[in-house]
Amino acid sequence: MQILVTNDDGVYADGLWALARELKSVGDVIISAPDRDQSGKGTSVTLDRPLRLNKIAPLLDGVQAYSVEGTPGDSVILALRHAVKNKVDLVISGINEGPNLGNDTFISGTVGAAMQGYFYGIPSIAVSVAAFQDVHFDVAAEMAKLLAEAAASGGIPERMLLNVNLPNLPREKIKGIEVTRLGERNYMDKVDTGHDGKRQYYWIVRGIPEWGVHPGSDIWALEQDKISISSFPDVYNGYNSDSLKKLASEIFRKLNHK
Ligand code: MN
Repeated sequence: MQILVTNDDGVYADGLWALARELKSVGDVIISAPDRDQSGKGTSVTLDRPLRLNKIAPLLDGVQAYSVEGTPGDSVILALRHAVKNKVDLVISGINEGPNLGNDTFISGTVGAAMQGYFYGIPSIAVSVAAFQDVHFDVAAEMAKLLAEAAASGGIPERMLLNVNLPNLPREKIKGIEVTRLGERNYMDKVDTGHDGKRQYYWIVRGIPEWGVHPGSDIWALEQDKISISSFPDVYNGYNSDSLKKLASEIFRKLNHK
């Protein structure tokens, strides 16, 4: 089994190596990750400049590691389309420092990297721990290993993207695992302004999130000291919404009246 490990916190982040260390017992691990913190880049792909891919000395024996001057998504694409010669069976992104919950998931580079794997038809998993300091990577790494073992035995469908979030707790304090949907976590983004001596600049500053703790959501699971596993809807099947169909035919009727 060949496993591609990536992240958005940068190739030297502790969480990435904690993950790689556990996954080594499940398969061959190849690391391809941004050369620096690329949190918040989502699925972004660099198309306006060339990229560099540097082979680096791994912090663990027996793994190959590449540092990419680009986004998390670039790192996955360069690995899958260039650096890795054999078939990749699983993509795991993380372990991120900080949660990736609710609508935040759509700007998350951790999830964005996993999503690139998913676009290539490879089962892909994003793993995050809900803390920025004194992060308990051990439980998250073991959880990733168990999921990788499940993938190795066909327990995870090819077209599956999972978003796993863990509370930052020692194993004995974690109260369970919930399969969840994405919750609502709204930030009141603030725009700071300043002047650099030449031009006005603007800086988006994320405020304290407003939590919508709806039962069954990922946020709700973590609030209860439980692990959350969310799967993404099958984007290829789309919505089957009657009201949208009605609106569409209404619009077409109006277009024809012009
Ligand atoms: Mn990050």
